[in-house]
Amino acid sequence: MKLKLAIALALAAMTAQAADQPWLDKSLSADKRAELALNAMTQQEKLRWVLGHFGSDFGNKTKKHPAALPFSAGYIEGVPRLGLPALFETDAGLGVATQASKTPRERTSLPSGLATAATWDRALAYKGGAMIGAEARASGFNVMLAGGVNLLREPRNGRNFEYAGEDPLLAGVMVAQQVKGIQSNSVIATMKHYAVNSQETGRFVLDARIDDASNRMSDLLAFQFLLEQADPGSVMCSYNRLNGVYACENDYLLNQVLKKDWGYKGYVMTDWGATHSTVEAANAGLDQQSGWEFDKSQYFGGALEEAVANGHVPQARLDNMVLRVLRAMFDKGVVDNPVAEGGKIDFAAHGIISRTDAEEGMVLLKNAGDVLPLKAGAKNIVVIGAHADVGVLAGGGSSLVYPIGGNAVPGIAPTSWPGPVMYHPSSPLKAIQARAPGASVTYNDGKDPAAAAQAAAGADVVLVFAQQWVGEALDAVSLALPDNQDALISAVAKANPKTVVVLETSGPVLMPWADQAAGVLQAWYPGTSGGEAIARVLFGEVNPSGHLPATFPASESQLPRPRLDGDPKNETQRFTVNYHEGAAVGYKWFDAKGLKPLFPFGHGLSYTRFSYSGLAASQKDGQLSLRFKVTNTGAVKGKDVPQVYVASLNAKWEAPKRLAGWDKVELAPGESKEVSVTVDPRLLGVFDSKSKTWRIAKGGYKVLLAHDAADAKAASITVQLAQRTLNVNGK
Ligand code: BGC
Repeated sequence: MKLKLAIALALAAMTAQAADQPWLDKSLSADKRAELALNAMTQQEKLRWVLGHFGSDFGNKTKKHPAALPFSAGYIEGVPRLGLPALFETDAGLGVATQASKTPRERTSLPSGLATAATWDRALAYKGGAMIGAEARASGFNVMLAGGVNLLREPRNGRNFEYAGEDPLLAGVMVAQQVKGIQSNSVIATMKHYAVNSQETGRFVLDARIDDASNRMSDLLAFQFLLEQADPGSVMCSYNRLNGVYACENDYLLNQVLKKDWGYKGYVMTDWGATHSTVEAANAGLDQQSGWEFDKSQYFGGALEEAVANGHVPQARLDNMVLRVLRAMFDKGVVDNPVAEGGKIDFAAHGIISRTDAEEGMVLLKNAGDVLPLKAGAKNIVVIGAHADVGVLAGGGSSLVYPIGGNAVPGIAPTSWPGPVMYHPSSPLKAIQARAPGASVTYNDGKDPAAAAQAAAGADVVLVFAQQWVGEALDAVSLALPDNQDALISAVAKANPKTVVVLETSGPVLMPWADQAAGVLQAWYPGTSGGEAIARVLFGEVNPSGHLPATFPASESQLPRPRLDGDPKNETQRFTVNYHEGAAVGYKWFDAKGLKPLFPFGHGLSYTRFSYSGLAASQKDGQLSLRFKVTNTGAVKGKDVPQVYVASLNAKWEAPKRLAGWDKVELAPGESKEVSVTVDPRLLGVFDSKSKTWRIAKGGYKVLLAHDAADAKAASITVQLAQRTLNVNGK
């Protein structure tokens, strides 16, 4: 009896709440719930939703909002009387970051975004996203500022390690998977930095110049793919200007492209310090000012209230801003699944996810004489440089995740923003020693090239670790390895030809010693389990299967901008970056200009070999699909990334060919698998700005099945396509 009464009372309470607060009714659509909640709000409550606070003290200027989580990126007040929770924001794409602090939250860091992109493995990208999203939730955050998809146009860009490389399809698809993973935790993810934020030098003032069609076929296309495939709850507009107008008050970017053309229903927040106005920004489609302390004023505080009162910003616009935030909260499950600090995190399991990502993203660039995998009989292994005795490097800036166990090499300058220079305490040396119990494995710090060469001479194999630290707000001054490391590698390789170079860099670097070293392994910034991951690949416990998501140039003179624009010493001086290469980014530029890179996009060796056969095409309702067979012709199990490129025989494209699809397949020795790939029609067409359509020209198209973008032996067939015109979304 008692139980029945209790159930009846609970049901009655729920009905009363549903009648009182119908937006909490889970059976309604997110649109309806957002509309109902909005209608219940006062003007002051609405205004609070569009003003973000920094979650940390801002120098001596302001204190963190009292309700924000300590050392966090941001906070937006909720409306408790309506059952609407506050928003707690954390960076970023590699895991739960902490703003500068002596008592940071220690969390799992994925390898860099470029490493994840280099896996070309959609399922792994999803898993990594799901893992960091779970840590965000367990840490009390319901918004993750993760979903960075800026195209790698500039290999010196200090934030390339946060993004997913130079190709719009690869970047869009891989980051979409990450975003889906994050949002599977009922946490809002954030597509950023929208758009054409391709270098850090002068990022607050520079004017990126690019025409609409080129942009739609490159940078914007990556964002568009991500949006369609993952529907991130929020979008972060970037610091830079685009064609003269700041991205966060850019009607073209926000209202026209994002909201109108792409039909985006989520909300646009600014980057921290990227708001420059009230009326212009609000009317151009900005929905939320973030971390207002970074801006000149509270543009979306009292100034917005006044602008609405005097009609410069319509009330309907303010309502729409709030509606978009609320809709994302209902749609992504933030209201129905409240977050709390102190959740349990399974660090052991998460460490394995990060390690697997790092392993699959490592790219074996060179392996002369099969110097790798390391042989069981090696008696004398010398490890040199890059603090490989204690840890692995991470990139700097807001995305930095503090690892459990703290910094393995504290005190390296800069120790403050965009530092600290962080080494995750995962020692490659120890992981190597554990795998070579009978061998002498010694370490030399590499500071003195002559001493290092002496230590290397006579060893069975030498592993030189080389590094390049960059970060947010800090581009690489050049693509050369810093700190005399080229001389170190040269001297060591000269002393011992069995030298393998392990690179911990943000992205592409120059390798004047490439002919001298027997092996080169690109390990990127490999995350919290990086040392272990590197050793597993070196010893062949894991067969490398990463492929470059970016071209490695042979020299800076090959780049569209041999010199980086702007002056890092004068960050207030406005200047223009002319993206004259248009949509010909990365390998497309190299192809168009007939340039031979050091290592091409898509390149990656394995301890086995793969062959392709039976490439065939079919078309159904205008959709082009390819089929082919991949065979492991070597002696060990491995994973391959067969890449499909398309080339138009008569239409004028920005470059000879484009990546149109790929798959990642695991094969035992002698095993074959059938693979099929369907091609997004936008990759076969050219964008026409006037009509906002994608146009596929009638005629012949060459389809290439290749191991990388410069594969001279790629299989190819020619297909005939009919003329087609598709809408702005490729439909
Ligand atoms: C970065 C963003 C980041 C934000 C909040 C900015 O400096 O550009 O990517 O999400 O700070 O920390």
